[in-house]
Amino acid sequence: MLLSQTSENDADSLMRALLVPSPVGGVYARTGLFERVVEGLAFFISRLRDPETEVLRFPPVMSRTELERSGYLHSFPHLLGGVSCLKGSEATIRAVVEQPDWVEELSATELVLSPAACYPVYPLVASRGPLPASGVVVDVASDCFRHESTCEIGRFQSFRMREFVCLGTPDQVLDFRSRWLLLGQRVAKQLGLDHRIAPASDPFFGRAGRLAAMSQLEQSLKFELLIALRSEEEPTACMSFNCHRDHFSTVWPLRTGNGDKAHTGCVAFGMDRLVLALFKTHGLDLAKWPAGVREHLSI
Ligand code: AMP
Ligand code: ZN
Repeated sequence: MLLSQTSENDADSLMRALLVPSPVGGVYARTGLFERVVEGLAFFISRLRDPETEVLRFPPVMSRTELERSGYLHSFPHLLGGVSCLKGSEATIRAVVEQPDWVEELSATELVLSPAACYPVYPLVASRGPLPASGVVVDVASDCFRHESTCEIGRFQSFRMREFVCLGTPDQVLDFRSRWLLLGQRVAKQLGLDHRIAPASDPFFGRAGRLAAMSQLEQSLKFELLIALRSEEEPTACMSFNCHRDHFSTVWPLRTGNGDKAHTGCVAFGMDRLVLALFKTHGLDLAKWPAGVREHLSI
């Protein structure tokens, strides 16, 4: 009891030193100290990129139709956030904003908040025609939104995700994922972060979702790199290594050079979680961080 209280207090003081709360749980302003490490980490990850990797940076919003078509709406409706606006003439809008229940008048736009950085990549690459024989790797990033039901340390509603996405033959994607499982652990080690890898499943919605999660586990489609951010007993996923098999080529015309359905996979870095883990491990004074870690992060 005493132990878990102590660690909650540690987590609180860590959050207070690095992030400024907003009136909404899980949404923070980030301090200069926090951002310095986020920037260092982003640069460190960029240096791991293969030279032929394409770089795309996405805005925090994406096409609602594309996200719907990708299957997200049915798998994770509880996490999705949409963009809604007031529509109509000046007089209509003027009248609406005078009402206390103006929110009721909002209507959906063609945009949703991106729940992961990689969703816009699949239709984009599919629109270019068949994949080259070597496959395609894209380095993507975006601010992401998930309507999380709790906001303990490391669980944000708005957070930053960096990903490398591979599109190719089944073997190319499996190789990519195996390579990144090792590279991800090497990154954590180089940054002095205690971690372990565990099989994982996504938080699918509802009863049917539990079956989807079980099948994901059975097929070893997802692994996570866990770090004891909140507690040792419930470590936090700071990276994920995902294999989607032919899910996205069933939805989009993603084909390999010989016309087969392409497979896809991605490795995702939770930037805010990784940076919290760095501060939790090495303390708030950057000058006291191990020299090797500071060098990797250019700080
Ligand atoms: P996922 O697509 O769920 O595997 O997420 C990829 C990575 O994003 C995770 O490994 C986390 O590091 C990070 N992440 C996911 N959800 C959140 C959240 N609510 N708050 C902060 N980081 C998150
Ligand atoms: Zn992804």
